[in-house]
Amino acid sequence: MNYEAVIGLEIHVELQTRSKIFCGCSTAFGDEPNTNCCPGCLGLPGSLPVLNRRAVEFAVMAALALNCRVQERSIFARKNYFYPDLPKAYQISQDDFPLAWGGYLEVDFPEGSRRINLLRAHLEEEAGKLIHAGDSIISAAYSLVDYNRAGVPLLEIVTEPEIRSGREARLFLEELRTLLRYTGVSDVKMEEGSLRCDANISLRPVGSSKLGVRTEVKNLNSFRAVEQALNYEAERQARILDEGGEIIQCTCHWDDSRKATAVMRLKEGAADYRYFPDPDLPPLTLERSAIEALRDKLPELPREKRQRLQERYGLNAEEAAIIAATREMAAFFEQAAEDYSDHRNLVNWVQGDLIYQLRESGKEITQLSPVLLIELLELLDGGEINRPVAKELLEEMVKSGAAPRKLVQQRGLGKIADRGELAPLVEQVIAENPAAAENYRSGKKKALAFLVGKVMALTRGRADPQELNRLFQEILKK
Ligand code: ADP
Ligand code: MG
Ligand code: ZN
Repeated sequence: MNYEAVIGLEIHVELQTRSKIFCGCSTAFGDEPNTNCCPGCLGLPGSLPVLNRRAVEFAVMAALALNCRVQERSIFARKNYFYPDLPKAYQISQDDFPLAWGGYLEVDFPEGSRRINLLRAHLEEEAGKLIHAGDSIISAAYSLVDYNRAGVPLLEIVTEPEIRSGREARLFLEELRTLLRYTGVSDVKMEEGSLRCDANISLRPVGSSKLGVRTEVKNLNSFRAVEQALNYEAERQARILDEGGEIIQCTCHWDDSRKATAVMRLKEGAADYRYFPDPDLPPLTLERSAIEALRDKLPELPREKRQRLQERYGLNAEEAAIIAATREMAAFFEQAAEDYSDHRNLVNWVQGDLIYQLRESGKEITQLSPVLLIELLELLDGGEINRPVAKELLEEMVKSGAAPRKLVQQRGLGKIADRGELAPLVEQVIAENPAAAENYRSGKKKALAFLVGKVMALTRGRADPQELNRLFQEILKK
C-alpha cells in the first residue's frame, strides 16, 4: 500500500537569558553540576517564582518572527508529573492560554517553497538534566542528575501536522534555526541542547484526509537524527500496517548508535498531567504597544535578506542562502561590497575559499575585517600577486588577521616583473633544456610555453608571464 507520512514537530528552544525564567540563578552551559541552583530550582517548599522579563521579551520576539498571534494575556499552568529531573514534580508551562497562537514558517523545499503552519508557541521552564551511565537511557545501570538546567527558559513551538517526510522535517528545522539565530533570542545549538525537537509521525493511505495513529520520537540531537528517525518510523509503521496490524500510540526513543527507535512509554494524554493555573504566578499581561515595540527590534529576517541580496548583488538563490546563513556573514559581505565593486568576484571568494578557511581554522567571520579581504582582492586584480599566492594569503589572513599587503612585502610574494631578476633564470632554463631551446629556434613555437613553464615552476608561479615571453624571445634570437 502507498502511504503518506504526516509529521508534526514540537520544538524546544532555550532562550539566551543570563538568568533563569523564575529565579536569579545563572543559565551558563557547562558549569560544574548542581552549582547554579537555589531553593526555587530545587523545588523546596516555600520558594516562589518571579518571572524574568527578558525571557518574555525573547519569547515574544521569536513568536513575532514566526508570524504568530502574540496574546495580551496568557497563563502559566502546572504540568504535573514525577520525574527525577523535575524535583517540584510539576513543570511550569502554559496550557489553554499560551503566549502565542498560529503563525507559520516558509521553507524552501526541493519542490518549491511552502508554508508550514504553527499551532502555538508557549513559555515554560527546562527540567534538570539526567546523565545516564553508559550510552542509553534504556540500558543505564544508574543515572546522575544535574539541576543547573532546571529553570532555563524555554519556548516550545508546535507545528501543525503538515510536514511530509524526514527530509522536509530537517529542512524545516534548519530554516527555523536560521531564523531564530537571526533574532538573537537563542544560540540554537542542537549539540548543546539549546534547540531540541520531538517528532510526531503517522501514516495514512495516499489521498485520505483522516489522520492515522501517531508515534512520538524523542531524543533527536541532530538534524541528521531527525531525518533518519522519521524515515525509520515511517518504514516501521508501513510494515505494521501492511501486515494488517495496528499502530499503538507511544513515545519512543531514538537510538542513534543502533539507528532504531525503541518504545519508552505508552502515550499519556493531556488529562494525565492535571494541568491547572499556577497559583504562584499571576496571568502574564502584555500591552499591545509593548508587543509592537518588540516587533520593531527584530532585524531583517533571513527570507527578506536572501531576496534582497539576490536583487541587489545578482546572487543566485544558493549563493544568497550561503551568504545569508548568518547575519554576521551577510553583514561582512555587504560591508565588503560597498567598497569593492566586482560583486561577482567577491561572492565567489566569500562562498568558496573564505568560508572554507573559516571552517578549517575554527574562526568566526566577525574576527575578520572586510577591509583585509578587499586589500587581498585588489592585490590580485592589480596583478601584484597571482591566484595561488592569493589563496595562501587568505589562509594566513584568516588564521592570524595579518594584512595581505604586509605579508606580500615581508615574504617577497609579489610578482617578479623585473628583467634583471628574471634574465638569469631564463638563461639557466635555456642552459638546462638545450633541446627545447633548439626546437624553438627551428620554428617550434610550442617549445616557448614549455620554457616559460620551467621559470614559473622555479619562481612558484610568481614570474610575470608576459615579461618572460619577451625575455625568452629576445635571448633565443641571439
Ligand atoms: P501532545 O501535546 O499530546 O503531544 P499535540 O496535539 O499538542 O499533542 O500535538 C503534538 C504534535 O503532534 C503537533 O506538532 C501535531 O501537529 C502533531 N500531531 C498531532 N496528531 C498527529 C498525527 N495524527 N500524526 C502526526 N502528527 C500529529
Ligand atoms: Mg507533546
Ligand atoms: Zn534558582
